Amino acid sequence: MIKICMIGTGYVGLVSGACLADFGHHVVCVDIDAERIAKLEQGEIPIYEPGLKDVVANNVRAERLHFTTDLATAAKDADVVFIAVGTPSSADGGTDLKYVFEAAKQVAQELSKYTVIVQKSTAPVGTARKIAAIINENKPKEAEFDVVSNPEFLREGSAVGDFRQPDRVVIGCESTRAADCMRAVYRALYERDTPIVLTSLESAEMIKYAANSFLAVKISFINEIAHICELVGANIDEVAHGMGFDKRIGNKFLHAGIGDGGSCLPKDVSSLIHVAGSKGYEAPLVSAAHRINYNLVDRALEKLTKHTGNVKGKTIGLLGLAFKPNTDDLREAPALRIVHELLRQGARVKVFDPVAMDNFKKTVKAPVEYGRNVYEMAADCDALILVTEWNEFRELDFNRLKHTMKGNIFIDCRNVYTPDRLAAKGFTYESFGRGKP
Ligand code: NAD
Repeated sequence: MIKICMIGTGYVGLVSGACLADFGHHVVCVDIDAERIAKLEQGEIPIYEPGLKDVVANNVRAERLHFTTDLATAAKDADVVFIAVGTPSSADGGTDLKYVFEAAKQVAQELSKYTVIVQKSTAPVGTARKIAAIINENKPKEAEFDVVSNPEFLREGSAVGDFRQPDRVVIGCESTRAADCMRAVYRALYERDTPIVLTSLESAEMIKYAANSFLAVKISFINEIAHICELVGANIDEVAHGMGFDKRIGNKFLHAGIGDGGSCLPKDVSSLIHVAGSKGYEAPLVSAAHRINYNLVDRALEKLTKHTGNVKGKTIGLLGLAFKPNTDDLREAPALRIVHELLRQGARVKVFDPVAMDNFKKTVKAPVEYGRNVYEMAADCDALILVTEWNEFRELDFNRLKHTMKGNIFIDCRNVYTPDRLAAKGFTYESFGRGKP
């Protein structure tokens, strides 16, 4: 059993902390957000993440998982301190590391015995060494430590399963003592033959950016092919299906639509471009992928206005706000830009999302109308835009929608339906990459 302090109880910190407790370790999760910690202490989960509530409850009951705002005490006792705080984009497209550095400084002041400090947050190459420098400057003289980079690859919406069964665990470190300690942290996975990839600090940090940028390039690639399909009369569903059987390509991340969003891909891609730029390299491939992805919201709006004309005074309904299904996360969600653009052009905007509306009310505060369900939201709408492919949007009752809507325009940004099916229901339908021969 290892004593772990997890700093940050967001999507990564809370899932990692709860799952590490489930591996048998003693974990104290720390956050500066007192309201969040108070909720957790009452058994409430502050984020929407399927399966997380049970893992948290089981491990709190077993007294392996604790929550606090007192970083000093939690860090003092720990063998391993994970830093899992946010690393948002800075105004220039780089990475704002203030939360990471602040956490490192606070940890340093508490060190007394040998401690492994793990950078779990996604941060540009060089950050782990900066953390080590901050700790050296602020720690008591005699305290020993190592810094490790251990990037996280879990996906929101399936985070618990991803943490328990990762494709690999990446550990960047420079000391055998720290490597042994990290192997012990992940023993439950190691014994299940999960590959443990030991690298330098720099390579571990880079693996995370390279992996996310590769996924972003793959998504933008299929969206570029989808665009060309529309121009030449091919169908992206058939094309992606045919491509996906090639083992060198694989069938994942070949789904055309409005592109990626969320707290990771756009932010990490932008950070990689920024880092490359700071070394005088433009990173043309990743930059193009970033631009293609960004432009997809404009394409969705063009598809809408092709049928509505000017949206001023029109009522437009959004199916979904979250950046993807099974999460309440709105960071970089395409829906945000769609809402703002529609409001800017004078449309009346109605929205419905099964879990993300509270988060939207709290964080976005845009003058939209909220539906209690799809059909209430759709009432009086001239057009609907399906933005997030929640399961409950996959079998809509189109007869009911047609009666309640004012218009019959349906913009499917996730290619959930097919042109034939919606035409048969009497809808004017647009999707991505389904060209007509
Ligand atoms: P988040 O914003 O959900 O959570 C961060 C938490 O850290 C917040 O609750 C905040 O209050 C807390 N915090 C900030 N400073 C603190 C301090 N000094 N002491 C204690 N708590 C502090 O962020 P997230 O989505 O969990 O992401 C965390 C990191 O993991 C980021 O670097 C992100 O890029 C990376 N990551 C995220 C995902 C994902 O799917 N969300 C996946 C892989 C990696």
